[in-house]
Amino acid sequence: MRAEAEHGPIARTREAAIRILLVEDDLELARRLKQGLEQSGFAVDHAETGQDGLFLGATEDYDAAVLDLGLPEVPGLTVLKKWRAAGRDLPILILTGRAAWTERVEGLNAGADDYMAKPFQVAEVAARLNALIRRASGRSSPLLRRGDIELNPAEGVVRVGETTIELTAKELAILLYLMSRPGRIVSQDQLCDHVYDLDSQRQSNTIEVYIGRLRRKLGRDVIRTVRGLGYRFE
Ligand code: CA
Repeated sequence: MRAEAEHGPIARTREAAIRILLVEDDLELARRLKQGLEQSGFAVDHAETGQDGLFLGATEDYDAAVLDLGLPEVPGLTVLKKWRAAGRDLPILILTGRAAWTERVEGLNAGADDYMAKPFQVAEVAARLNALIRRASGRSSPLLRRGDIELNPAEGVVRVGETTIELTAKELAILLYLMSRPGRIVSQDQLCDHVYDLDSQRQSNTIEVYIGRLRRKLGRDVIRTVRGLGYRFE
């Protein structure tokens, strides 16, 4: 266990709560989207081609995907259909050309959850992703409440009774993941997958450090350790 984790090399890794796959071949647009979404607290993996996107979306665990339809190698619509055929049920936001309403209809029919026509504001993409993820996890309210703990992911605030407690982005990400799965065992690897993006240095032992901090802030019994398996939100 490394108590100094947040001040060591880990401190330079991106802090993020939600993992997004961005499949977009327009590099300037992708750079702008990735940057904007990261500022909104998402961890973003970028794939430049349909082939790469298809692979990442089928093998990595994402909370949502932003998928351009006009892509080299494999068209976006094919990527979408293949993910769905393989049982990947993550929320998918498709990006389409301005005038191509037929593409939007086709995309939605193929299992996309929402679309945005280019050009768009990055802030709107972030807002729509948050709404899709919220809906996908079965919550119509942005607040997550378990016992006397109340988490507002959009505001990054947690309340215990009347007390507001400040969490770092990683603590928040871990708490959000655990609170969305009450009573279920979550492994360190799963938590790692949701807290770090692919480019970050992943160290599962730092998860232990964050869990320790959450317990100090929220109370010891809130998160139980299940020996050899992981953690459980009680
Ligand atoms: Ca394109």
